[in-house]
Amino acid sequence: MTLHQNLIAGEWVGTDGVANVNPSNTNDVIGDYARASADDAKAAIAAAKAAFPAWSRSGILERHAILKKTADEIIARKDELGRLLSREEGKTLAEGIGETVRAGQIFEFFAGEALRLAGEVIPSVRPGIGIEITREPVGVVGIITPWNFPIAIPAWKVAPALCYGNTVVFKPAELVPGCSWAIVDILHRAGLPKGVLNLVMGKGSVVGQAMLDSPDVQAITFTGSVGTGKRVAAASVEHNRKFQLEMGGKNPFVVLDDADLSVAVEAAVNSAFFSTGQRCTASSRLIVTEGIHDRFVAAMGERMKGLVIDDALKAGTHIGPVVDQGQLNQDTDYIAIGQQEGAKLAFGGEVISRDTPGFYLEPALFTDATNQMRISREEIFGPVAAVIRVKDYDEALAVANDTPFGLSSGIATTSLKHATHFKRNAEAGMVMVNLPTAGVDFHVPFGGRKGSSYGSREQGKYAAEFYTTVKTAYTLA
Ligand code: NAD
Repeated sequence: MTLHQNLIAGEWVGTDGVANVNPSNTNDVIGDYARASADDAKAAIAAAKAAFPAWSRSGILERHAILKKTADEIIARKDELGRLLSREEGKTLAEGIGETVRAGQIFEFFAGEALRLAGEVIPSVRPGIGIEITREPVGVVGIITPWNFPIAIPAWKVAPALCYGNTVVFKPAELVPGCSWAIVDILHRAGLPKGVLNLVMGKGSVVGQAMLDSPDVQAITFTGSVGTGKRVAAASVEHNRKFQLEMGGKNPFVVLDDADLSVAVEAAVNSAFFSTGQRCTASSRLIVTEGIHDRFVAAMGERMKGLVIDDALKAGTHIGPVVDQGQLNQDTDYIAIGQQEGAKLAFGGEVISRDTPGFYLEPALFTDATNQMRISREEIFGPVAAVIRVKDYDEALAVANDTPFGLSSGIATTSLKHATHFKRNAEAGMVMVNLPTAGVDFHVPFGGRKGSSYGSREQGKYAAEFYTTVKTAYTLA
């Protein structure tokens, strides 16, 4: 089987391979992917450091051209790369292709941003002096990504890092190296100079840790779990480096008595179960007022009966497998915890078999849950949601905000008054009205509050805040 190697200083290197296995069919091995050592990570950091002076001063047309060529190739290969994504992560083919197109659009957006770099010229309070405010690249950026968006998250970190003139050491999640390898290969062939982008696939505790420990990494952008995020933060403070964290969620979706029932059910099913519930923006707390509660639960049950859970690559599948055995164990453990805590497992929650050996789980819906139960407070990261019954809008808002997280918050209502109030008062980085809590645009800021995020926003023009440092220059006229 072909070995997909790491890219260090413009050379493909590595001999040791680890199998990348399809969660829809564990007999299907996608390929072997090299596993980097701590020394490889150090070599990658040294290469990125050496490449920084030239790349940070490279022309904007060169950066534009490389990012645009990458965007075009990703979009031209959307079916093949989308299939690779679904095969390694387990989201459906439609979701895999959609995410691949998204990655292409992100590269296209930042290709454009490279041509729009600008500063400000401001008069001084002291006559005869001029002031220029410019943005400069930060230096070597470390990129650490999770498994649940194998191409979109790498794209929304790698594209702005390169656009603004930084060099990169990129460590994708162990479970999904395929899409990351593919976009690094495309960028490399698109003409990136040696050392500007380095790929080090491997273990977080080895490769990721070497990045955290290096004084030569000036910024780290991380998406993943709260526990690892805290390590990134502590190490970054130690090295006085810039860092940005996108972590977990426990996103609420409020359904009010005046909601359009079909809009509410569609948005809730999508939020809780699509992409197998493995989205940081997924909703696992459905907060429902008492006038619509019973009708909502019955309609959810009907809608869930129609969901097809099967091989991600099969036509007609709505929900693919859970990503691996460890995550499946976590999901079933929480289903047991919910029952022990006194919530009622109203629908689903069974581990099921299909034609191929994979990690298949029926989406689970609890009712009679409270917001204090562990299933309402801790991130499960699977197709498991709980309905919490509340009296009215005020209680719904209070429950929605009563969480350590603050990524996305949704509401289903036909009341302009409540929608407007919710947009203003939801304690979250993103608010959705009559829409699923997950599903965002690529040209606007993404990120959360409280325990979900730290640092400036990702995506859109707001990305510049993290990937650049501001310089203020004074000149005597
Ligand atoms: P994880 O924290 O286990 O791993 C994330 C990355 O960190 C991986 O590349 C891993 O190898 C690396 N890592 C692990 N230990 C490390 C260490 N000691 N030093 C440096 N790097 C290390 O998370 P995961 O299981 O891959 O992803 C799931 C989590 O990601 C969920 O909690 C989910 O909510 C979160 N997530 C958040 C967002 C968001 O934008 N807020 C988006 C997607 C996923």
